[in-house]
Amino acid sequence: MYMSEQTIYSMHEQITSTAPGAAGGDNSLCDSFARTISYLRLSLTDRCNLRCLYCVTEEEANGLLRKLRHADLLSYEEMLRVVRVAVGMGITKLRLTGGEPLARRNVLHFIKALGAIPGLSDIRLTTNGVFFAQMARQLFAAGVGKVNISLDSLKPERVARIAGVDCFAQVWRGVETALAVGFSPVKLNVVVMRGINDDELADFARLSQRLPLQVRFIEFMPMGNSSRWRQEMYLSTDAIKAAISPLGELLPLGRNCLDGPAQVFRLGQDAVGSLGFISPISHHFCDNCNRLRLTSAGSLRSCLLHDEEIDLRAILRSGQDDAAISNAIRQAILNKPKGHQLEERLRDAGGDCHGRMSRIGG
Ligand code: SAM
Repeated sequence: MYMSEQTIYSMHEQITSTAPGAAGGDNSLCDSFARTISYLRLSLTDRCNLRCLYCVTEEEANGLLRKLRHADLLSYEEMLRVVRVAVGMGITKLRLTGGEPLARRNVLHFIKALGAIPGLSDIRLTTNGVFFAQMARQLFAAGVGKVNISLDSLKPERVARIAGVDCFAQVWRGVETALAVGFSPVKLNVVVMRGINDDELADFARLSQRLPLQVRFIEFMPMGNSSRWRQEMYLSTDAIKAAISPLGELLPLGRNCLDGPAQVFRLGQDAVGSLGFISPISHHFCDNCNRLRLTSAGSLRSCLLHDEEIDLRAILRSGQDDAAISNAIRQAILNKPKGHQLEERLRDAGGDCHGRMSRIGG
């Protein structure tokens, strides 16, 4: 029997409202704009078994971008060291992403070691779901309790076209396994693209009425100059909401830290799941951004859409002590821009983001 998302939300609110030393407490990391940074996103690898059209740039699709060599990636030991230091500074939440995090060899050993870090209370995973079903129980036992699975269509042939691989059955098995094992929340990431999958908005919305999932509609973002993003493929959150409005009322659910940047609703009183809307372009969420990223090349990056990075790998490999790591983390947080410049980039057709989502970690 699945627990409804509504129950999970109210349990979560009770826990966070009574927890001592929650965000803003003694051990918190603040940026120059008084945002508390408590969330680290770790790109485990730039490699992926899929080639999703919104993620892979023209440059990558044409083989013009070399993948990182294994030696260029941080080792698991190096990542564990960084995470230990970051947790000591106030990071409480970690997301494993990539590339495809489950495609990196021996990832389960690494995640078990992460699970043993004192003070790290929340380990999450973003995955394309292809390898997830077979690893789900071990991931859960190692302490990954929350999972986002990318699935951009409910039609197998269309998934194959978007992702470049015929993988719907494996991904769907992953979704079912996540619910059966007890991951909570289980979120489905849907990048909405006009003319590609926008005729499935209602089907995805109905899925959230039937299953205790959060279906998250994500606005398609242009990532760098060689992105396959085109204005005519972009659909705003307002347009997405308008398209599903005939299905029922969107009832807002209170914001809490399970939501991240999403605005969350239930589609009608009886829905067991919810709908999230992520609007990096139309209503950006920079004011509440609490994130820091560690790229697969070992650089600290404080904004997905801004290229300023600190080369932590060089620091790690030059024999420096933990104080050097914490200084770099502090500096990256101080470098965090007030907001991203996506609108300007769209206007000028240029910009400050190299656009390799797989390296940065989506
Ligand atoms: N391989 C994993 C996966 O597929 O979920 C993790 C990495 S992937 C880069 C993480 C997320 O980035 C995906 O769920 C997708 O929603 C998002 N993403 C990638 N490119 C995007 C784009 N151009 N616009 C919006 N979201 C994007």
